[in-house]
Amino acid sequence: MSREIIGVKTVDLRNFGRGNYRQIDDYAFGSGGMVIAAPQLKEALEAVTSEIGARPYVVYPSPQGALISQEIIESLSKQENVAIICGHYEGIDERFVEKYVDLEVSIGDCVLTGGEIPAMLIVDAMSRLVPGVVGKGKAVIEDSFYRGILDNPNYTRPAMWEGLEVPEVLTSGNEKEISRWRRREAVRRTLTRRPELVSRASVREYLSGVNVAVIAETENINLAGVSETCRAYDAGRPYIVANDREVRERMKELYPEAKIVGSVRKILERLDDDALTVKVSGTSRKNALHSLEAKRICLEHGGEVLFIFAENEEDFENFAGITSYLYDEESEIPMSMKIGIALDRFLGKR
Ligand code: SAH
Repeated sequence: MSREIIGVKTVDLRNFGRGNYRQIDDYAFGSGGMVIAAPQLKEALEAVTSEIGARPYVVYPSPQGALISQEIIESLSKQENVAIICGHYEGIDERFVEKYVDLEVSIGDCVLTGGEIPAMLIVDAMSRLVPGVVGKGKAVIEDSFYRGILDNPNYTRPAMWEGLEVPEVLTSGNEKEISRWRRREAVRRTLTRRPELVSRASVREYLSGVNVAVIAETENINLAGVSETCRAYDAGRPYIVANDREVRERMKELYPEAKIVGSVRKILERLDDDALTVKVSGTSRKNALHSLEAKRICLEHGGEVLFIFAENEEDFENFAGITSYLYDEESEIPMSMKIGIALDRFLGKR
């Protein structure tokens, strides 16, 4: 590449081969296929290490590795140097894998003749994450998987082709509508094609608003901690619901910046009519949904969401909404931490 923002060097294993034929492989014990031998691989790795002055992170593409993912690619791209060992024939001596390979990775459940194509795939995917490789800066973060979810479908000119029209909204010029459409399509595709991806996604981008409320019994709630947690997840200032007037008064004195209200209804009046309420419980409750299911429902909803926590979860009975739990078992965790765990599950970047 002319701007030299990525360097890729190939090393010929044959340079470390033995004898006249520069042999790098040998018969597999017990089966008879050919296997690339450990001493030659080690010498090649040592040569690379001394050339770059540091031990590279060693990746071995193999059908027996962890299935490749954007998370793996992202982690690899944080490494200063990565060495990819391409296998061939039956593969490479397992002892080399044991001693020197940091990551064994598969590009899919199929078997290729060698590791060269997987190596190219890894280099290509890593390079897209290097700033300047993909032209339009924003494009990478909009791709499938970057946010843990698939990309929306894309169209270009002509607007009409073989009787098929481009979705009308895309030619409307209405930026807000377009981005809503793109979010909705991305969610729809993910839920129909790859629903299992939802666990990896942050729902933040796909909701029009996120609100947090805590139903407090007394003014002893750690409101500073709750507020900080909400801020960390970009969930705005939390609402505090306190039934008792005196408690409310004292809270207002203690935390003049808090949004203190007397009932959940008062919050809902300020939100969109179709806002979805998610009651978050620390432990499993009757009719409660696994947080992944609740997450899927949030994504399908796409509008405004109110996450509600309660010091006394009996209060959940008093208003509508879905209930989600964090843990199956009884567990006592402080409110600010409970909010942190929940917000991380729903809104956390993967
Ligand atoms: N006997 C091995 C397959 C060897 S295929 C086994 O069954 O596991 C030869 C080489 O091709 C491997 O060493 C590996 O580097 C590469 N390769 C083949 N399929 C691959 C896949 N799905 N992902 C990554 N690398 C693969």
